[in-house]
This record gives sequence, C-alpha cells and structure tokens, in this order.
Amino acid sequence: MKLCFATNNSNKIKEVSTLLGEDFKLVGLKDIGCNEELREDQNNLEGNSQQKAEYIFENYNVNCFADDTGLEVLSLNNEPGVYSARYAGPQRSDEDNMALLLEKLTNSSNRKARFRTVICAFIDNQKYFFEGIVAGEIAEAHNGDKGFGYDPIFIPDGYSKTFAQMSLEEKNKISHRSIAVKKLVDFLQTNS
Ligand code: IMP
Repeated sequence: MKLCFATNNSNKIKEVSTLLGEDFKLVGLKDIGCNEELREDQNNLEGNSQQKAEYIFENYNVNCFADDTGLEVLSLNNEPGVYSARYAGPQRSDEDNMALLLEKLTNSSNRKARFRTVICAFIDNQKYFFEGIVAGEIAEAHNGDKGFGYDPIFIPDGYSKTFAQMSLEEKNKISHRSIAVKKLVDFLQTNS
C-alpha cells in the first residue's frame, strides 16, 4: 500500500518506514508533488493533525497520515501544548522556549509533564486517531546535548536523566512519537 506521511522531515519518514516494513511504500509530501506549507492553525493536537491529513487526502487522493506533538505541563494547565514550537514567540527558538518554561516553573513543587503525540490517518476514506504519551517531569536546569526541542529539560518517569542525555535508540524505545507510530503500524498491518 502506498501511504503518504504529511511531513517534509526525512528523519520522521525514515523512522516510520523502518517500522512499517516492505508491504508499505511510505512517501513524503515532496514525493506526491506537494510543495506547500501545510496549515496547522487549530487549537489542539487532534485538530492540527486532522487538518494536515485531511488536506492531503482531499487534494492528492492518497491514503495518508499526519502527526502533531506537544509538551503538556500539569501545573501550567497543560501549556505549552499545541503551542510548543512557538511558546516564546514566532522565532521558534528551542532555547527561548525552554527558558520561558523554566521561568514559569520557578519555585514550583509540581513539575509533572508529559509529551503527547497525536496521529490522524485517512485510510480508504475513513479517519482514525492514534495517541502516544510519555510521562515525566521538567528538570530544574538543562542537561544533555542530544535530541531537539525540550529534550534537555524533560526527564521521563523511571529515569534520572533527560531525553537529551539518551541516545536516539534509547529515546525511541519509550518516546511519545514511537508509541503513537507503533499503534498506527499495528493497525495498518492488521487491517490491510
Ligand atoms: P511537532 O509536532 O513534531 O512538529 O512538534 C512540535 C514541537 O513540540 C517541536 O517544535 C518541539 O518544540 C516539541 N517537541 C516535539 N517532539 C519533541 C521531542 O521528542 N522532544 C522534545 N521536544 C519535542
């Protein structure tokens, strides 16, 4: 089955391709001739992932899926959530975003947080959602130089190091994104 992942991030495409196996031909946006910046202006992760997947399904007539991820901090009413990439402003700076979050949590005893990924898929005219969550807490300060985004300040439950102190393989075994992707892959392998 040909399947489009509505992203231009080749790392994400490679990661999912490996999990899907040879029965699926996974392609990205450029491969289906889509060079547009997809809109994602909804106010939750479900809305954004659906907006992107639905646009591709309707305009390019191909089975497809899209993802959206946010960091949800309990004591901040699940901020930054869907605004994770641009929490500190439109410059989308990881450093600025982390600095703002640490500042908001100054003296906070509740540092519980979770990463949540939502995948929306359109397969043969049906819409499906898959969710992956990893719980943890926000560190007092940055640690580690691997990964991206909020990795240097996120410590997953059961660990005493941040995502940015883990190898990619170690992070991928437990990450929100890989949990959601595995649910999608299980679904596709069982239903096609
Ligand atoms: P996206 O939906 O994958 O583009 O993620 C939106 C934003 O969430 C990113 O710009 C990052 O700030 C943050 N984010 C998503 N996934 C991760 C992760 O695995 N580690 C750290 N930050 C992440």
